Amino acid sequence: MLSKFDYFKPQTLDEALAYLESNPSTRIFAGGTDLMIVLRRNMEMVDHILDIKGISELRRIDYKAGEGLFIGAATTVNEVCFSDIIREKYPALGQAADTVASYQLRNRATLVGNICNASPGADLSSPLLVYNAKVHITGPDGERIVDIDKFFTGVKRTVLQKSEIVTGVSLPDVEPGDVSVYNKQARIKGHDLGIAGVSIRITSNKEVFIAMSAVAPTPIRLTKLEEALATKDLTPETASWLGKEVRNHIRPISDVRSSAEYRLHISGILAKKGLLQLIEKEVN
Ligand SMILES: Cc1cc2nc3c(=O)[nH]c(=O)nc-3n(C[C@H](O)[C@H](O)[C@H](O)COP(=O)(O)OP(=O)(O)OC[C@H]3O[C@@H](n4cnc5c(N)ncnc54)[C@H](O)[C@@H]3O)c2cc1C
Repeated sequence: MLSKFDYFKPQTLDEALAYLESNPSTRIFAGGTDLMIVLRRNMEMVDHILDIKGISELRRIDYKAGEGLFIGAATTVNEVCFSDIIREKYPALGQAADTVASYQLRNRATLVGNICNASPGADLSSPLLVYNAKVHITGPDGERIVDIDKFFTGVKRTVLQKSEIVTGVSLPDVEPGDVSVYNKQARIKGHDLGIAGVSIRITSNKEVFIAMSAVAPTPIRLTKLEEALATKDLTPETASWLGKEVRNHIRPISDVRSSAEYRLHISGILAKKGLLQLIEKEVN
């Protein structure tokens, strides 16, 4: 049974901020697909719930050439899946969104809820890392913008303070010829977090970005590996090298979804596959 709490569903961001200010212990409720589990299992006592799905100014995907993309905090994962601009410019993000749970769940779940929940396996985290996304946070002291690689601080922990709300994430614009891909291994297709997830991006000037989920306490960018890759040609041989080398850059754990050994093994396969897919795209 759910414990009692005060529920508020504002129509504007100003109303939401005023509510947060008067009730600092408020939990923000977006799609509720993570939070409802916490509430139903009484894993946490919550006095105030702020439902942000009615705030139309937070439900948007805006793209401006030269500036980039903004995804508001009430935007659903399915809206990310079906966005033409995301498919065209930020394909790894669209592909990762496709792998989240089921169609019905994606109709409720939000991209911002995915990162605020801060599961190490959050599917939408690694594409945001390879695009150097920024998290827009508003609180009693105004707005602050945090780089996504500084946002996660531990398992299910972020830099967010009480009374703060994430209003959205922004991604810098990408040049023509920028390619990216997301690959995930899960126990079953749909309905499950990944055993491992790998995003790889090659920019138009051949810079390579790699980020992973489910292989460390937080989603991570593998910057040392990126530096090593920068010294190599992007060939199938390099993809084979990457498949082996990536295992030296992660420290996965064993849990209900997988053993650490299998996570290491599958991470290599996913990284090699991803780079091969992108090399193929560049050739064609
Ligand atoms: C059956 C099932 C399958 C799933 N499969 C996957 C999967 O394959 N891949 C995957 O990555 N995830 C999966 N999930 C987890 C979940 O669906 C996603 O993490 C989803 O994106 C969470 O979004 P939400 O809007 O529902 O978040 P909510 O549950 O509303 O919120 C999650 C957390 O973020 C906080 N929060 C939300 N929005 C904000 C905001 N704007 N500002 C500050 N804090 C905020 C909430 O207070 C809460 O702590 C699954 C969940 C279920 C139940």
